[in-house]
Amino acid sequence: MMKEQKRYFLTEDQLPRQWYNIQAEMVNKPLPLLDPKTRQPLTADDLSVLFAKECAKQELDTEHAWIDIPEEVQRRYRYYRSTPLVRAYALEQALGTPAHIYFKNESVNPLGSHKLNSAIPQCYYCKQEGVTNVTTETGAGQWGVALSYAAKTFGLECAVYQVKISMQQKPYRSSIMRTFGATVTGSPSMSTRAGKDIITREPNHPGSLGTAISEAVELATTTPDCKYTLGSVMNHVSLHQTIIGLEAEKQMAMAGESPDTIIACFGGGSNFGGLAFPFMRHQLRGDKKIDFIAAEPASCPKLTKGKFQYDFGDAAGYTPLLPMYTLGHDFKPVNIHAGGLRYHGAGTIVSQLLKDGYMRGVDIPQLESFDAGLLFARTEGIIPAPESCHAIAATIREAKKCKETGEEKVILFCLSGHGLIDMTAYDSFLNGDLINYVPNA
Ligand SMILES: *Cc1c(COP(=O)(O)O)cnc(C)c1O
Repeated sequence: MMKEQKRYFLTEDQLPRQWYNIQAEMVNKPLPLLDPKTRQPLTADDLSVLFAKECAKQELDTEHAWIDIPEEVQRRYRYYRSTPLVRAYALEQALGTPAHIYFKNESVNPLGSHKLNSAIPQCYYCKQEGVTNVTTETGAGQWGVALSYAAKTFGLECAVYQVKISMQQKPYRSSIMRTFGATVTGSPSMSTRAGKDIITREPNHPGSLGTAISEAVELATTTPDCKYTLGSVMNHVSLHQTIIGLEAEKQMAMAGESPDTIIACFGGGSNFGGLAFPFMRHQLRGDKKIDFIAAEPASCPKLTKGKFQYDFGDAAGYTPLLPMYTLGHDFKPVNIHAGGLRYHGAGTIVSQLLKDGYMRGVDIPQLESFDAGLLFARTEGIIPAPESCHAIAATIREAKKCKETGEEKVILFCLSGHGLIDMTAYDSFLNGDLINYVPNA
């Protein structure tokens, strides 16, 4: 007999009212962000040229461990939160493992990924501060989609620069952004000076995150009342994402268990930090009981093969210098299907925590990630985002170890999104057209 899938939800009065800011409690704080010209630490004032003031303040806040979630943001979170914590009995059974596998399902909001958790507060703060326009770049498209919707609900204009080649490869993501009222421009474009320069030099440039970032940053800095937003990497983004782990902590208690292992896929670190930090807070000073695992693609292995150093956040070198594990800002990741994980660096908080031994990274080859995604779909009935497949693959590795040792470990992972608009990726896998990539040493 198959055990029924078990799901845990929170009632409205159990929903978290504050985010958790791990920076305030870290033993070694992240190193400061530096101005690339002067090499001086950046202040919140410096950052608020680009970002909403409140986000700039949160970015550098190493004092307050708990930060109130504005009432209006709580109200919008209630449209889709709490998200379910699910015991994956069917997956356990298919693996024949004694491990207890739970996942926090962040794919259930209508936009399909955890990105909305930060898009809502970022747009809220912009609105509060009298900003009228927001802009961003998007590669795979999940961030652009979440921002487009959040901007619309706050009455903000939204301009998204989408990498030209991924706009052609994933046409539905730009359709979704436009449905929510955003202006979507393929990058490089003729609408900015940076774009024009690139096109003049290389008329058929396919675009990259680097070109899209430079265009969005230029728009934000040359347009009055326009701010730039990011969906990953920055500290304030991970802060907003802690809603995931704070809910999960209460839901695990409802299930009467506490996790031995916590796993999330890793692009810039926001869904990982979001799930992990609220649990990690109990062991920043004591014994390191929980095994925290960040699952990255073998083709873009900054945690397992990168260097800890100051580096730019973007390919073109426009951003501040960030202290992080990085493969180098000129690293060109291959065009794997987990688009959200193709980033050369890791967030500064996670980088410091990795350096200090609070967590570890594992790298997952592309074919293993899709094998895991297929097994998950066929057991739990949810088609996971190609990014999330990495977390599932790492979970399966751990569950198989438990089968060998007979340990009944409790494993919790983050299902960061669903893969329903990534079916071309699944088609390629099912047709046998995908291969594994490992960067040259
Ligand atoms: C963007 C994205 C990621 C990677 O970003 P992180 O900041 O590392 O969480 C992972 N999964 C999904 C579904 C995404 O959209």
